This record gives sequence, C-alpha cells and structure tokens, in this order.
Amino acid sequence: MLSVFAQPAAPDKYGAAITKEDLKKQLSIIAGAEMEGRETGTEGQRKAAAYIAGQFKAFGLTPAPGTDNYQQYYAIGYDTVLRSQLLVDNKSLIAGKDYLDDVGMNTDGSLSAKEIVFVGYGIGDDKYDDYAGKDVKGKLVVFFGGEPKQDGAYFISGTKSYSVWTYPGGLPQKAALAKQKGAVGIIVINANLDSISANQARSGKKSSTRLIADVSANEGINAITIAGGSAKLLLGDDFFTTTLAKARKNELLNATAFSKKIKIKYDYAEQKITTNCSNVAGYIEGSDKKDEYVILTGHYDHLGIHNGQIYYGADDDGSGTCAVLEMAQTFAKAKAEGNGPRRTIVFMTVSGEEKGLWGSEHYSNHPLFPLDKTSVDLNTDMIGRIDTERKTEDSLNYVYVIGHDKLSSELVGINEAANNKYTGLVLDYKYDDPKDPNRIYYRSDHYNFARKGIPILFFYDGMLQADYHKPTDTVDKIYWDIYEKRARMIFYTAWQMANRDDMLKRDIPLN
Ligand SMILES: [Zn+2]
Repeated sequence: MLSVFAQPAAPDKYGAAITKEDLKKQLSIIAGAEMEGRETGTEGQRKAAAYIAGQFKAFGLTPAPGTDNYQQYYAIGYDTVLRSQLLVDNKSLIAGKDYLDDVGMNTDGSLSAKEIVFVGYGIGDDKYDDYAGKDVKGKLVVFFGGEPKQDGAYFISGTKSYSVWTYPGGLPQKAALAKQKGAVGIIVINANLDSISANQARSGKKSSTRLIADVSANEGINAITIAGGSAKLLLGDDFFTTTLAKARKNELLNATAFSKKIKIKYDYAEQKITTNCSNVAGYIEGSDKKDEYVILTGHYDHLGIHNGQIYYGADDDGSGTCAVLEMAQTFAKAKAEGNGPRRTIVFMTVSGEEKGLWGSEHYSNHPLFPLDKTSVDLNTDMIGRIDTERKTEDSLNYVYVIGHDKLSSELVGINEAANNKYTGLVLDYKYDDPKDPNRIYYRSDHYNFARKGIPILFFYDGMLQADYHKPTDTVDKIYWDIYEKRARMIFYTAWQMANRDDMLKRDIPLN
C-alpha cells in the first residue's frame, strides 16, 4: 500500500524531464562509431564505461562502494596452447592435424596411461550405460562424439543433450561423467572427420573467452579430440573399422567391455590471457530508508566490430543504457530540489551481457549493496524499437513486461498503477507465458538478480528479428516517441518502488 507520509512531491514534473531530445543526444554518443560497438574486453567497451562514469559524476551520483571511478572491475580471459604433444605407443601424433587439444577443459600438466578403455559414446544413463561393468578409475577413456539413435530417434535424451559440447556453466555432460568416474583424461573420436581442418586447427588453439570465475568450473580433465582417421591407432584396425561405420550412422555400438594396453603420453601447457572489463555503478542515497535499495540496470556492451563492420547496438542495448542515464539525471535533479527518494537508488550499466550475462553474474556474486536489502531490479534491454512481428493490431503503444508473475505478487500492481496514472502504455505479458519458446526471462541481466531471489521486472520491445544483432541496429531506426514514453514509465515505476513504505514482498518462488 502506498503511503502519503514522507512521500516526495508528485513525480510528474520530473518524469517530464526525460525527453526524447535528451535520449537522442545520449544514444548518438553511446551507439556512435567512436564506441566501436562496445564489445566486452575491447577499447570500445572501455570508452563507453568511461563516458557513462563521466555522466554519473556530472549528475552528482556517488560512486558505488568498492568501485574505482564508478567501475566494478571483473576479469575475463581465455587460454591458448603453448605446447602440446601426444604419443601413442611412442608414435607422435600431429597437433592440429591428427588431434586437437580441448583448450577450454585442459589444464597444464602431462599424463601417461598404460591402458585405454573404450566406452562407446561415453554416455551413462538409466536407459543406456556405456560404462556398465567397466572400471575406468585412473584410466584414459575413449569414446565417440554424438549420441546413438534407435528407430531414427535420439532415444536417450531426445534432444541430443549428450552431444552438447559447449560451456561455460560446467563441463560438458560426457566429460563430467568421465571425471566423476575417475578417468584421468578423455579422448573423443570425431567419427566424421578424417583429419582436422586448417580452420579447426586455428580456432582450436584458443579457448573461447570466459568470465574468469567460470574457468575453474570448466577445467579439470585433460581432453583431446581425435580425428576419425587417426583413431585406428588407438582401437586397432578391425574393431575400429566396424565401430566407426556404426558411429557414423549413429547406430548403437556393440560396446562390450573393451580395454587395451597401450602407452599414451600427453604433454600439454597453456597460457592464460586475462583482461579487465567493468560494470559502472553510482547511486543516490535515500532518506529514511537509505539502507534499502532499488536498482536500475541495462547493459552497455554490444557485439563490437566484425569483418570491418561496426555493430552499433542502438536498440540493444544503447536504448536501455541511455534510459538508465536519463533516470539517474532525473532522480538526481529531484534530490537536489528536496524531492529525493526514500530508498537508495542504484544505477548500474553492466557489460558482458552479450557474452553470457557476465557483468550481472559478477555483480550478483560480488554485490556492492546487500542483495537481501535490494527491493527490486528494473532491467531495461531494448526499448527503442517496434516489434516487427507484433500481431496485436489495436496498438503499437506497448512495451513487453517480463517477470510480472514471478517472485513478488506486488510487482504487477505497482507497475500497472504507475503506468495507468502517467503513461498509459499497453503492458504486454506475452513473454511471461511459460509456453513461450524464446525464454526471454533467462536472457538478460535481470535473471542474475532473480536467481538470487530479488523481484525483477524486465522491459523490452520484442525486436527479435528485424535488425537484432546486425550492424543495422542503428540510431536512425529508433522510434523516439515510444522510447521516451517507455523510459518515463520505468522512471515512474522506480519512483513508486523507491518511495513506498515497504520493500517488495518476496512471496512467489521463482520456479
Ligand atoms: Zn541486449
């Protein structure tokens, strides 16, 4: 329930100070060529961070505690191969031709084994177990990539999840299983590859860039991918030829216990390259509830430059970044005129979103303000465009609101009341339908707050096709009137949440 006590003056005079002219001025800078597409870990991202910090300072925001010039730094990095040697019965295989090191999973060190154990597809499951009756402790396991089919279907996972070989977020399922069973290393045979291509060799020398916090989670087992053509050495001609033919067709392998005495030596060393990037966070201290927080977020990073083309990211998420800037300026002005918020309002633009929500993940694991005192996160990621696929014809006066039915029963009432009173947008909840295939709830930075139990609302325009993640997401495509209205709506919602008597109730479980 809203209180009259200690409420600052009516917010409408401040909301009106968020104008399309100001948004355009800011967005022309953030999504301008000079920012080089703001890819995390690059000069463009650092320029954008410095600009945002400069704006926060000019508005009179206090730097968040633990930041350096408003910036909360976090490390990202990747590994490159320094040295790699694989000997099979004293025969040297050629890195980049016969085999590839899995740089993301390997750690420095050497391994030698006297015995390999072949475990089919390397899958262990209630329905199907390649490890049944095999002891692989201290041994090197060898298996084919992919998953078997039965009657033309992937009968184990149904979705080929065993074949997924991407991370962060932990080891791939097969690698984790081998590690859990005590194997010292894995050799994955790529049945469909006679030898490694030059392209694969080039990209295989470097892991993908990751949040440093993730690295230890991914590493932990020596892993090699070996081309089908070179795997004969390991398995012997006859067995190899029959199983390879089956694996190429995803047939069930007759993986009876098979182990073989063979001398394998693997020597591997890598170099870790790290670099810093940052979230930018400033705040306006509250009055009688200054130890409680409302946090307003948007990601300022985008995709950078590829093949000489700048990915400007005007809508994604220059629009959210500039909305956060405008709200910061406006709340600061209100405070300067004696109408400051009761709760402390934190303004944070994060990086690493396009890479995998890294900046918000880092923040939520290393919060600058207590998470249990953070009433709500209002996240803005793309609010300057019109959804070209939108089928509702009655109105283009809309914004998608995501998260309205999760974590707090109070979110929706406050948001709708603020919108009804001041902005009159159609709040469209279609992405909150559990059957929606886009999984938008999990796809921007608010999720890292939600997973910690903080109620969130996420505002979004639905631009998923059109210019999404293309160099053509540019400033001239923005619909300024609707952008201004949406930014104001978020401002009024934040105003109510910062000034009401109580923090938002946390009365709905996330799942
Ligand atoms: Zn985005």
